[in-house]
Amino acid sequence: MLGTEDASAPSPAAHRLPHTRHMISGSAPTAYQRLRESLSAQPRVWLVTGAAGFIGSSLVADLLSLGQQVVALDNFSTGYQHNLDDVVTPEHAHRFRLIRGDIRDLATCRTACAGVDFVLHQAALGSVPRSVQDPITSHDVNVSGFLNVFMAACDAKVQRVVFASSSSVYGDANQLPQREENVGNVLSPYAATKKTNEVYAAVVQRTYGLPSIGLRYFNVFGARQDPNGAYAAVIPRWVDRLLTGEPCEVYGDGETSRDFCYVANVVQANLLAATTSDPAATGQVYNIAFGQQTSLKRLFTMLRDGLAEKDPSIAGAELTHGPARVGDIRHSLADISKARRMLGYEPTHDIAHGLNEALEWYWGRKGRFELKEKVRAVML
Ligand code: NAD
Repeated sequence: MLGTEDASAPSPAAHRLPHTRHMISGSAPTAYQRLRESLSAQPRVWLVTGAAGFIGSSLVADLLSLGQQVVALDNFSTGYQHNLDDVVTPEHAHRFRLIRGDIRDLATCRTACAGVDFVLHQAALGSVPRSVQDPITSHDVNVSGFLNVFMAACDAKVQRVVFASSSSVYGDANQLPQREENVGNVLSPYAATKKTNEVYAAVVQRTYGLPSIGLRYFNVFGARQDPNGAYAAVIPRWVDRLLTGEPCEVYGDGETSRDFCYVANVVQANLLAATTSDPAATGQVYNIAFGQQTSLKRLFTMLRDGLAEKDPSIAGAELTHGPARVGDIRHSLADISKARRMLGYEPTHDIAHGLNEALEWYWGRKGRFELKEKVRAVML
């Protein structure tokens, strides 16, 4: 376990100034910049479920950098200890508490929610194909586990729960850009679980008075997203294959498009949603994306050309084509005006800017991996 069980001691780092990379010199501070300053000045206690995962670990990193106290809950089914080791530095460890446990267990959720101000609920089994393979487990974790977290949060009198919904709830609605009120028929068990989450969150708010906000993430990418396994997302999977010289396969003709969203934008949305003082903003769902459509073919070119700047041998890589997948949505593009208007959300990274940062991270990790392998070879 990292850190200590006593998450109550205020940190000397708690009153540090917030990171300045979000400041644009000379311009008025955004709602997010003001929020970061106020959180730094007055730290709170946050529960991040799914904290060892890709998005959860990015939330932990940012909250700790803002001097917050963080309780992390994860069962490590798709998350990793090394994601937490990456973000919980010794300097932060005394403000961090890890609970290894499963959201399918109500008692664990109660322990995790005790004394918490805000819950950022990220724990779920992602991936449309995984849910098609095993809908029962996806339902148990994503719906029963979700309700456990919400009921435990109610009982612990948590101020607000922000939860990860998904663009998959738009299903076969083909009107672009996608607006929150125009959902279609869901196309997979995964999408059904996320739609059910939205229904339950609204019911829990109405019935028990727990305010919550759902964030419909559109394809998120960034550091620590897992490239391994059958259910890996397209960006880490292709980056990994380009770096190892293996072919990249696209399902279908490559004209399928997505609104790729860098993880820093998702972190921003979570913090804004947790703390907005407008009661009308709760009990709602919001699209969280950049608002820019990129085809998979174009994405591949961006990844290949970005990596070829670091390793020219990658420049010749080409896409191969496989059959289209069951349950996949053809195009997605978010209308993010509701999050802008109600939450003050202003995404800081478009796909190009996000990929620059993400590719740096994957490249640095490749270097570390190669060094480890060399050291191992010398020692053997
Ligand atoms: P991830 O798999 O990296 O993280 C999920 C984390 O939840 C993992 O650490 C996993 O171990 C944990 N977890 C799973 N089941 C658990 C359980 N029963 N109890 C406790 N912990 C459990 O996935 P991610 O990409 O970081 O996704 C985070 C959330 O965002 C999920 O709810 C996902 O559905 C949603 N989402 C992600 C994207 C995306 O593009 N990454 C898009 C839309 C929605």
